[in-house]
Amino acid sequence: MARARLRICSAPGCPNAQPESRCPEHRAERDRHYRKTTPTKATRDHAERQRRAEVVADHRAAHGNWCPGWRRPAHPSDDLTADHTRAVADGGRPDGPLQVLCRACNSAKGAS
Ligand SMILES: [Zn+2]
Ligand SMILES: [Zn+2]
Repeated sequence: MARARLRICSAPGCPNAQPESRCPEHRAERDRHYRKTTPTKATRDHAERQRRAEVVADHRAAHGNWCPGWRRPAHPSDDLTADHTRAVADGGRPDGPLQVLCRACNSAKGAS
């Protein structure tokens, strides 16, 4: 195999040359930057809880304490939760549409 072509590090002003696009020093620096800026599970979970709370609040504002029902008629409920219309475990997108149901209907749906 031919000798790997060396490339100048893509970090501005860095004279190092290596087969990769960045020298080991700047690769490590970029990784540190990614770790700092990529959302952790904790911040994602927080945003998701926020999103669900907003969906439930919107539903309450529009319909009151009312569950649309899962395989049963709509009924009053003050224990509403928002969950994925299509479960993530079932191939749904984590940021996909949410559906408001009461806790009982939601667990019935989850069990189905
Ligand atoms: Zn470099
Ligand atoms: Zn219900």
